[in-house]
Amino acid sequence: MGRFWEVLIVSVTDEAVKANELYAKSFTLGHLAMPPARKLAVLACMDARLTVEQVLGLKTGEAHIIRNAGGIASEDAVRSLIISHHLLGTQEFVVINHTDCGMLTFKDEELREKLRKQTGAAVVAPARFYAFSDPEENVREQVQKIKTHPWLPREIPVRGFVYDVRSGKLREVRG
Ligand SMILES: [Zn+2]
Repeated sequence: MGRFWEVLIVSVTDEAVKANELYAKSFTLGHLAMPPARKLAVLACMDARLTVEQVLGLKTGEAHIIRNAGGIASEDAVRSLIISHHLLGTQEFVVINHTDCGMLTFKDEELREKLRKQTGAAVVAPARFYAFSDPEENVREQVQKIKTHPWLPREIPVRGFVYDVRSGKLREVRG
């Protein structure tokens, strides 16, 4: 009986920890240096269908991948980009959004209201969820935020893309 329930409630985290044991057994990347070898930093949406490394042909150790809901150049994402460039030498930035993004499915104020009701608590942070209605426009906005940040040099190329989750193709968003 106990055994039966154990099988049912095995958590995904437990499975992941098990998978890591296997991963570590054949691990060969212990020699990699801290700075990304290809001097690239990518800011992308956290969508589960977008495996940035595979989409861009990147290997472990080659790039910084910064991810959040919507691929937003939030204070925290910009913090990471500043560290990425100034301390770890990245020289090019890429921003990636994608089709069928979850951020297109709600409005900030609706979600705030729903959570306020559900929990009975009002919060200060997060101040915004950054929901948007057009991935291209959102990419343009994030690229602009990064390009104009005073602590990120003007010369750094910042290019934006929308990834198509149906075709696997990237489409560049022009400024
Ligand atoms: Zn998304």
